[in-house]
Amino acid sequence: MEIAFENRFVRSLPADPETRNFCRQVRNACYSFVQPTPTASPQLISFAPEVAELLGIDSTWFASEQAARVLTGNELLPGMQPYAACYGGHQFGAWAGQLGDGRAICLGEKIGRDGKHWTLQLKGAGQTPYSRSADGLAVLRSSLREYLCSEAMHHLGVPTTRALSLGLTGDLVTRDMFYDGRPRREPGAIVCRVAPTFVRFGNFEILASRDEKENLKRLVDYTIACDFVHIPTGTPETYQQWFEEVCVRTCEMVVHWMRVGFVHGVMNTDNMSILGQTIDYGPYGWIDGYELDWTPNTTDANGRRYAYGNQPQIAYWNLLQLANALWPLLEQEAPLQHGLNRFAEEYQRQSNAMMASKLGFNQWDPETDPAMVEQLSEVLQTVETDMTIFYRTLANIQMDGLEVSQLSTMITDGWLQDFFRDAFYAPDPIDAGFLKRMGTWMHQYLRRLMIDGRSDSARKGSMNRVNPLYVLRNYLAQQAIDQAEKNEFGEIDTLLDLLRNPYTEQPGREQYAQKRPDWARNKAGCSMLSCSS
Ligand code: AMP
Ligand code: MG
Repeated sequence: MEIAFENRFVRSLPADPETRNFCRQVRNACYSFVQPTPTASPQLISFAPEVAELLGIDSTWFASEQAARVLTGNELLPGMQPYAACYGGHQFGAWAGQLGDGRAICLGEKIGRDGKHWTLQLKGAGQTPYSRSADGLAVLRSSLREYLCSEAMHHLGVPTTRALSLGLTGDLVTRDMFYDGRPRREPGAIVCRVAPTFVRFGNFEILASRDEKENLKRLVDYTIACDFVHIPTGTPETYQQWFEEVCVRTCEMVVHWMRVGFVHGVMNTDNMSILGQTIDYGPYGWIDGYELDWTPNTTDANGRRYAYGNQPQIAYWNLLQLANALWPLLEQEAPLQHGLNRFAEEYQRQSNAMMASKLGFNQWDPETDPAMVEQLSEVLQTVETDMTIFYRTLANIQMDGLEVSQLSTMITDGWLQDFFRDAFYAPDPIDAGFLKRMGTWMHQYLRRLMIDGRSDSARKGSMNRVNPLYVLRNYLAQQAIDQAEKNEFGEIDTLLDLLRNPYTEQPGREQYAQKRPDWARNKAGCSMLSCSS
């Protein structure tokens, strides 16, 4: 099949002159040419039709042997120029030097139906000059998680890289999942990811760290010209405006994460897309019981640097590292500080608006709402309560025609316990002290709704558009993994289909909206994930 590629990244940016594939420090270059490693027995197990459509690739192609070969790195299509990008990063708060695409290989840029350039990238396609001591491969469990979550996030309205396909390589890959000396041979897999660009904060950081100012300027100019086309180039404000937009986009992304209960798990600067898209799905997780301190990443269990509630501050810290990397181009603090301030202001504003929409208010009321949100966050953490189910349940409150004087009769301990039963992980009866505090909060909340005066149906409709019903709960992904490891792939497409409409009730699929079952509480993959992938 004929698929045309136009590779601006390769054409515009400096290449590593060394084309042999061995691990090394790569200087004075943004990328190295590298070929994907052939695999034993390529097999495609799923593809996302809407991503194919976006790219203008006919869906029938995915049934072909060629598709399986191309999407696992066993065949290149005419026009593809595979490369691995050079980047560095701050990992867990410390500068880590050169990292780079150690197992990701960009194939080329396909012009999509929308006329835009979309880079296709294989993750797990073999060693590159950036593999350091690792094998360049990826296993099925982590690839399946990345594949499904990329698409789930997109359909939730969260900026993200996309996933075109999931394929098996036919090779076995050895992984010590919990770094505890119990390695296992697992099926190798490859996700084909798709994004306008895979450039990260770390691509700029590595150039600044090496004093490669000219290349830094080239990469910034390239990024603005290709991916921030509305920003006028060559003016004294160009870089300031661009950095500010990166700050704002990053802010929007994190506000979405907080809205849907997503925890990235490894917010290192090499995992921060310059586009403000969620990138690099590793030991991420979804909040079941609402807890600001929760992290799915066992590697981060002690410091909890990347816990749910820390994500906004970490995004800011990462932007600060990017600002430092851009310093040589601006040589002034004010424009960079301006962008960082913009993040802080925007975060407050957008987070307030987001919380108002989750709670069903017409708009944020700065007089009453900060305390209400703060108290809710405290109350929800007192007794383990499922975040997703809590907000969907809250939307069901019926108060058309209700008077303030009737609230006390309505909000009893029994009513609260019944009403939120599906959301509580704690066994009945629910702690009396908790019910009292919840009752006090509920009283204020309903009074607040009365002031807004929306009808039940209008409020419910708007709440259910921002509070998802179906999210990729960690245990749901794990069930699909357990089956896929036995060569049963049906659950992957079921989940893909379910998560296509995360806000809409889907008859017959009620079980996917239920709280995490007890068996999954401490099961590996369901609540505990490591960076091993
Ligand atoms: P991550 O924590 O997954 O974002 O990865 C950090 C760095 O390690 C990146 O440069 C990755 O390309 C690299 N890396 C992770 N896993 C592998 C692997 N199996 N083989 C080669 N490089 C890897
Ligand atoms: Mg990464």
